[in-house]
Amino acid sequence: MNANSPAQEIYWHTTVDMPAVSPAPLPEKAEVAVIGGGFTGLSAARTLASRGVKVAVLEANAPGWGASSRNGGMVLTGLKVSMGKVMARYGRELARRLFQCTLDSIDTVEQIVRDEGIDCGFRRCGHLHLANKPNHYPELLHSAEFMEKEFGHTLKVVAPGEQRAEIGSDVFYGGLVDEVSGGLNPAQFVAGLARAAEKAGAGLFGRAPVTRLERAGGAWEISTPRGQVRAEKVLAATSGYTGRATPGLQRKIVPIGSYIIATERLDERLAHEISPTGRMMYDHKNYLNYFRLWDNRLVFGGRAAFFPENAQTIQRSAEILRQDMLKVYPQLKEARVEYVWGGTLDFAFDMMTHVGEQDGLYYSLGYAGHGVSMATYLGQSIALAMLEGSIKNHPFAAFPFPSAPLHLYDGRPWFLPFAGLWHKVLDWVQ
Ligand SMILES: Cc1cc2nc3c(=O)[nH]c(=O)nc-3n(C[C@H](O)[C@H](O)[C@H](O)COP(=O)(O)OP(=O)(O)OC[C@H]3O[C@@H](n4cnc5c(N)ncnc54)[C@H](O)[C@@H]3O)c2cc1C
Repeated sequence: MNANSPAQEIYWHTTVDMPAVSPAPLPEKAEVAVIGGGFTGLSAARTLASRGVKVAVLEANAPGWGASSRNGGMVLTGLKVSMGKVMARYGRELARRLFQCTLDSIDTVEQIVRDEGIDCGFRRCGHLHLANKPNHYPELLHSAEFMEKEFGHTLKVVAPGEQRAEIGSDVFYGGLVDEVSGGLNPAQFVAGLARAAEKAGAGLFGRAPVTRLERAGGAWEISTPRGQVRAEKVLAATSGYTGRATPGLQRKIVPIGSYIIATERLDERLAHEISPTGRMMYDHKNYLNYFRLWDNRLVFGGRAAFFPENAQTIQRSAEILRQDMLKVYPQLKEARVEYVWGGTLDFAFDMMTHVGEQDGLYYSLGYAGHGVSMATYLGQSIALAMLEGSIKNHPFAAFPFPSAPLHLYDGRPWFLPFAGLWHKVLDWVQ
C-alpha cells in the first residue's frame, strides 16, 4: 500500500447510514425465519410482515452486508443466460414467462422505491451492452432481432459510427441499448429496504449466523450463537455466501468474486464526455467489465480475480481494474481511484436463477450478477407463494437445479483458477 493506493472500502457505504445491529434478543418462535438480510431476504420479510406474518431475519453480519450493498447498482432486464439459450433449453412459453419476470422485477424495484420513499437515485436510464470485437456487433444485431420477434422487446442498435453519442470511448464496435433498464445506489436501496421491512413489522437480527438447521416436529429448529429460533418455514436468502447451514444448496452454488473501483469525483465536462447518457454499461466479454457514473465518479467493476473477496484479491483487483478502465477511457489517466472493494456472486452450474422448496425450506439464489432487481422481485414473489401455500407454479421453479457435473463439488470451488483461465481463453478466441 502507498499513499496513492485507493482505500479498501465500499464506496456506496460512504453515501448512507447502513443498518445497525439491534441488541434485541432473538424470538423463540417465528412463522417464517429468513436466513440472510440482503435484497432477497429483506424484500421477502417486508412482504410477509406487511401481511401480518411473524418473520425474523437472521443475518450473519449486519442487514445489507452482502452483495446487496456492494454491487454495481445496475437494474437490468434479462438474465445472465441469453434469452436465446433460455428458449432453446426450456421452450418458448417458459422463456417468455421468465423474461416477463425480469421486466416485472424492474417495476417492483420502482414501486418499492416509490411506496417506501427510498432515496437511492433510482432512474430508468437504460443500459448499453458493448461489442468488444468486430464479430460481436452482428451477434448483437441478431439478438436485437430475436428479442423483437420472440419477446416483442425493442432494443436500440448503436452502430459503431454513432457510439460517441453513448460513450466517450473508441475501443468498442457498437452496441445495444435497452431503455427499460435502470440504475440506483445499492447501499441506499438496501438500507431503505431494511427500514421498510422493519416498519412493516419484521424483526431484523444481525450478528446471528445460522449454524444449523434441523427439522423437528414439523418445524425448523434454527441454531445461532445468539440462541435458537423455531419456525414453520425458512427462506434461505444467502446468495454467494451460502454455507454449511444449508449443505444441499451450498453444493449447487459456486461463489465467485467480483470487484469494483470508484474514481474521485470527475469534473462535470469529463463525466459527461465518458457517459453522455448516464446509462449502465457492460461489455460482451466472458471476463466482462461493467461501469457507470454515480455523483460524477466512475464506478468500474469486473472479475479481476475469480476468488471471493479478501484483502489480497481486493488489492490486486485495484490495479487490474484501473488498467482495464484506462483501456476504455485513456482520458482518465490522471483521475485518482479512491475506493476499491469486492463482493461475492452466486453462480449455479447452469448459470440460471433457481427458486424452490423442500419441507418448508424455501430458497432463491443463483442470480449470477443479475440480482439487484431479481432478488428484490423473487424475495417478494416467494413470500407471496408461501402465503398461497405453494411454489410449484413459480416459473423459476419449473426447471431442474443441477448439481456439479459428476458431483465433483462439495462447496469448495477448487476449479476456480481453471474457470478463470478458461474464460480468458474464450475471450481471446471468440
Ligand atoms: C461486486 C458485485 C457487483 C454486482 N453488480 C450487480 C449489478 O450491477 N446488477 C445486478 O443486478 N446484480 C449485481 N450483482 C449481484 C447482486 O448484488 C446480488 O445478486 C444480490 O445482491 C443478491 O442479493 P441477496 O439478498 O440474495 O444476497 P446478499 O446481498 O449477498 O445477502 C446474503 C446475506 O446472507 C448472509 N448469510 C450467509 N450465510 C448466512 C448464515 N448462515 N446465517 C445468517 N446469514 C447468512 C450474508 O451475511 C449476506 O448478508 C453484483 C454483485 C457483486 C458482488
